[in-house]
Amino acid sequence: FAPWTDPSAKPFIAFKNVTKRFGDFTAVDDLSLNIYHREFFALLGASGCGKSTLLRMLAGFEQPTSGEIVLDGTDMAGTPPYKRPVNMMFQSYALFPHMTVEKNIAFGLKQDGMAKDEMTDRVSQMLKLVKLEQFASRKPNQLSGGQRQRVALARSLAKRPKVLLLDEPLGALDKKLREETQFELMDLQQSLGLTFVVVTHDQEEAMTMADRIAVMSQGKVVQVATPAEIYEAPNSRFVADFIGDVNIFDGKVAASGNGAVEISVDSGFSVRVAASETPPAGSAVGFAIRPEKMRVGRAAPANASVNAARGELWDIAYLGDMTVFHVKLQSGKIVKASSLNAQRAVDDPFTYDQEVWISFDENAGVLLKD
Ligand code: ATP
Repeated sequence: FAPWTDPSAKPFIAFKNVTKRFGDFTAVDDLSLNIYHREFFALLGASGCGKSTLLRMLAGFEQPTSGEIVLDGTDMAGTPPYKRPVNMMFQSYALFPHMTVEKNIAFGLKQDGMAKDEMTDRVSQMLKLVKLEQFASRKPNQLSGGQRQRVALARSLAKRPKVLLLDEPLGALDKKLREETQFELMDLQQSLGLTFVVVTHDQEEAMTMADRIAVMSQGKVVQVATPAEIYEAPNSRFVADFIGDVNIFDGKVAASGNGAVEISVDSGFSVRVAASETPPAGSAVGFAIRPEKMRVGRAAPANASVNAARGELWDIAYLGDMTVFHVKLQSGKIVKASSLNAQRAVDDPFTYDQEVWISFDENAGVLLKD
């Protein structure tokens, strides 16, 4: 499933040069983005980056200042929220406290004037879908947080929207329930064949659930890619730093050519990194490498003149599944290297203050041109 790799595939949702201003503040800035039918798409970014505003414009609660939003082939300008084939589930769930679960789910259907029999059928389908059949006559305050979340989900799916918009859908749940619910949402999205657009500031949540992620900053999309691409090949310093743990080195290009760049980094060693576009010698660049791609050893690696540096073990953090080593390089910079405990000897002889070498492969990190 990767319609975005097919240039002839038509997007189901298209934002075309969309800008949203509140007074003289630009919340969404000339943003273009395609989302495909049956995609589980995540908008990820820090608070205030404009992700909720983007979702609200898609739902029709806000109008773009300029630009176009096309949904299933139709320009949505002038279409009110209730006439759009989308439904939105809010973080607060917005359940009616005085109504039973059943009535909460039926609310929108009733407003639409659905016949009673059909409504009863639809509500019981929805209750079954979210596994709440035995809770039909309870009120929201007689439910757990996870159950309330499922009622909200059932209610937003009851009208059978083509697109479900979820604004921080799991924000109110504790960690364990959140993880379980992530998988439930994925199953539901798959089995119903819907397009889901979720807003989150939680990168793990986006990585777990989404087919693709748009990383946003200051009203713009910085990178759109699959979770693996975002993690393995961040296109910028911002994305490298925002997603996961990373070591970033600054430096200058010493030589380039043959699909690789040699960087003299500020920490006093040479980095050779594979790169498709090679900036000229002297350019200021960065180099990003994930902790798990960095090796720590007591002996110097075979070729210590490149992609290797000497330091001392500054900190060792045992995290159960893995151990994180903080190594203080001779320049004073502290870098992180991690390894899975299952892949190492139990009686690891590493101790604090020990002299060690860090080293890594040529294709283990990425060149940052910004
Ligand atoms: P959060 O995760 O905190 O909800 P977000 O990325 O979803 O953040 P938005 O809610 O889209 O961010 O808001 C983007 C920016 O636009 C914020 O700086 C916010 O203060 C501003 N903003 C949003 N709605 C309005 C409004 N109605 N009037 C003025 N400014 C607004």
